[in-house]
Amino acid sequence: MVYDAGRFDTIVIGAGHAGVEAGLAAARMGAKTLMLTLNLDMIAFMPCNPSVGGPAKGIVVREIDALGGEMAKTIDKSYIQMRMLNTGKGPAVQALRAQADKPIYIKEMKQTLENQENLTIRQGMVDKIFVEDGICKGVITETGALYQAETVIITTGTFMRGKVLMGDLEYESGPNNQRTSVKLSENLEELGIELTRFKTGTPPRVNSHTIDYSKTEIQPGDDKPQGFSYETKEFIMDQIPCWLTYTNEFTHQVINENLGLSAMYSGAKRGTGPRYCPSIEDKIVRFNDKPRHQIFLEPEGRDTEEVYVQGLSTSLPESVQHKILRSIPGLEKAEMMRPGYAIEYDAVVPTQLWPTLELKKIPGLFTAGQINGTSGYEEAAAQGIMAGINAAAKVLGKEPVILDRSQAYIGVLIDDLVTKGTKEPYRLLTSRAEYRLLLRHDNADLRLTDIGHELGLISEERYEQFEKKKQLVEEEKARLRKVTIKPTPEVQAMLESANATALREPMKAYDLLKRPELNYDKIDSVIESNEGLSADVKEQVEIQIKYEGYIKKANEQVERMKKMEDKKIPEDLDYDAISGLATEARQKLQLVRPLSVGQASRISGVNPADISILLIYIEQGRIAKVAN
Ligand SMILES: Cc1cc2nc3c(=O)[nH]c(=O)nc-3n(C[C@H](O)[C@H](O)[C@H](O)COP(=O)(O)OP(=O)(O)OC[C@H]3O[C@@H](n4cnc5c(N)ncnc54)[C@H](O)[C@@H]3O)c2cc1C
Repeated sequence: MVYDAGRFDTIVIGAGHAGVEAGLAAARMGAKTLMLTLNLDMIAFMPCNPSVGGPAKGIVVREIDALGGEMAKTIDKSYIQMRMLNTGKGPAVQALRAQADKPIYIKEMKQTLENQENLTIRQGMVDKIFVEDGICKGVITETGALYQAETVIITTGTFMRGKVLMGDLEYESGPNNQRTSVKLSENLEELGIELTRFKTGTPPRVNSHTIDYSKTEIQPGDDKPQGFSYETKEFIMDQIPCWLTYTNEFTHQVINENLGLSAMYSGAKRGTGPRYCPSIEDKIVRFNDKPRHQIFLEPEGRDTEEVYVQGLSTSLPESVQHKILRSIPGLEKAEMMRPGYAIEYDAVVPTQLWPTLELKKIPGLFTAGQINGTSGYEEAAAQGIMAGINAAAKVLGKEPVILDRSQAYIGVLIDDLVTKGTKEPYRLLTSRAEYRLLLRHDNADLRLTDIGHELGLISEERYEQFEKKKQLVEEEKARLRKVTIKPTPEVQAMLESANATALREPMKAYDLLKRPELNYDKIDSVIESNEGLSADVKEQVEIQIKYEGYIKKANEQVERMKKMEDKKIPEDLDYDAISGLATEARQKLQLVRPLSVGQASRISGVNPADISILLIYIEQGRIAKVAN
């Protein structure tokens, strides 16, 4: 029996990594928000690796923070280890990676949700989207509660018709033996939403007491940990190491002998798995020339003995998993606390979405996270905050927010999904971002804080600090342009200590800093210091000066790209009326309904010839409209 359970502005289904960001963003923008999830004790649960960040993903966490999201602040309060990766390489590939204390991460995020104004969180299973005249009007739970709202965001992750696979064992379940969500999948199909079947896998967990660490290599955190959030001022110094070991020929032999027992290799028709998080079976088959594969032993938290065996994701039978574990140095006597498994689940085909993450077919209904075909906590959280912002903007009568490919990895992620779609779980990589030199860990605030502030997601106090930082960076750059460094013995000594060529004639500090062997501190040591400048201001000055030429070139490319992005295409353009378009291009354009010529040019199957025809047609249409 359905009963009226109340009215909200926005409803978020799910409190995973996408759901929490969506709910917090909508509530903080002023939308009266309801969050429904299956289990309040599993809010922001990490069903797989106990880590946040890494290449590209770490930069996304910074971007979410610059927009006013929560993931960065939460991991800065709950990490057991923090490392800056690729410090030997350029700033475009440097990224933070934190090992998370899973139970603490959940506790911190739940507290944040419970104390958030405008946000109501409830435990419940949503079975149906309430749609009237083709427009989303709310949700109905399995207990008959009808919650009405103008916008609804589905962030149900890997729970949609979840099926756990381990050898020939398979059963309906969400991750970690949680309930699966069946009726909502069926309802989306009834509403004409196209679903696809994906899968992902996770490795076993073993008891730390049963690991012989003397046979592994320690992987400590950074001495001076940094934070993901621009608001973090205190750092957790007491870090816990991870440990590195390797598979060996015997491990590979055990796997090869049992490949047919793997749910993934038994030949049964299965969902598509992530290319970039391969199972150990995949690795043994695809890289059979490699004598060993890295295995990282990652503690799941400070107050638990559970250790995540990174690199051993599998869907082989439990009995085989024991053999595999015992073949690995350090794990000869390992006790398995949880077996690895694979999970198959429904995902929404993301080309059915506008770049705001609203479904084209059902106005008011948004989707975000793994349900859109991605893999990863960070990718989910990124979509969550954007869906939350746009669902609230729709209710509050504000302009939608679409980040383009030159502004953020979040922009790259969403544009790839809604324009190109994905045939397997999509994972963010630096190589996906053509403007990655502009999308760095160090400048996420400069790229996005203004937007977060405009939306009311960044506090005035933080914004003032941000404005101050920008001003100090510009003033220091201007100062270094004026300071002349002469070839004095002190300067020559500094240059020699840095293996840099001696100075023959006076040079501006700004230009000398461009030398690869030198950094801000070196230059600062031979000129009058600008006392009190913070480390991140100095870092920004150094990067902006050193990479000035590359950044300028990248910005010129962006300007060229923007010209195509500014050529808007009417949402209701009739592609059948345009003669000369290739059939595949016409079909793809009708499916994706790109909002700009730039987006149209990124659709696979739409060629430059089609773009020229489209450009002429739009231009003629514009001229015709002007004429009338
Ligand atoms: C087995 C496994 C392996 C993984 N392997 C990888 C990997 O290799 N690499 C990687 O990057 N990531 C991996 N992931 C992680 C993946 O990124 C996460 O699933 C991530 O948590 C996705 O975030 P999300 O917010 O989209 O969904 P989830 O975190 O899954 O959250 C979904 C939320 O929706 C709720 N919910 C579901 N149905 C309903 C309903 N009908 N009504 C109300 N609430 C509902 C749930 O309670 C939950 O809170 C793996 C996940 C799993 C389960």
